[in-house]
Amino acid sequence: MVDWNIQSRAHACQACQESFVGKELFWTLLFDQNHAYERLDVCEECWGTQYSQGAADRKGFISFWQSVYAVPPSAPPDPIKKETAESLLRKLIEQDDPSHAGARFILAVMLERKRLLKVKAQLSQDNQRIFIYEHVKSGDLFNIVDPNLQLDQLEEVQRDVSQLLEVGLNPPGTAQSTAAVENRDQGGRSAAPANAEDTHQVAEPAVASPSSTEAM
Ligand SMILES: [Zn+2]
Repeated sequence: MVDWNIQSRAHACQACQESFVGKELFWTLLFDQNHAYERLDVCEECWGTQYSQGAADRKGFISFWQSVYAVPPSAPPDPIKKETAESLLRKLIEQDDPSHAGARFILAVMLERKRLLKVKAQLSQDNQRIFIYEHVKSGDLFNIVDPNLQLDQLEEVQRDVSQLLEVGLNPPGTAQSTAAVENRDQGGRSAAPANAEDTHQVAEPAVASPSSTEAM
């Protein structure tokens, strides 16, 4: 199984523990730990002395890239929390409900088009494609499975995304029970066909694959 957790960018080299400074070049390595992808951020020097020589597969990592470290901005004041495509995607990834696999994919593609996310690696596992997206500003990594959406599934997924954007996923302070969420969401997808006509359509039907080659 894929590890769905969002993996944040480190603020210090994970090999020598030296803190990164602004504009420093560093390397992100992706390891396949029993089908869970784990990132390791290392400084230029550790990359050179410990990782850059020899084949990547012999050293156990399956993908790597270089980035420029940016000092993270302090969190902006957040008066009334409205669900955005990004906040929703983060929640969906943490929740990892298989029924929202299509929504996660569509949201990731939307955010890629807005240039908030970039595909850094494309992996395949158990006949599934997995996109490793990096958040351009924070450097967080998101694992997104390609759900292989068919045209006739698009409408339902778009409805799912629209509804999630409108009503949110988990109102604060609730447990992560999928059943509970389904009940609260005006009866869930299947029970609310009449409402579905009124909800906004997601702007772009995004059945196309992320433009991963170009982004890499
Ligand atoms: Zn180091």
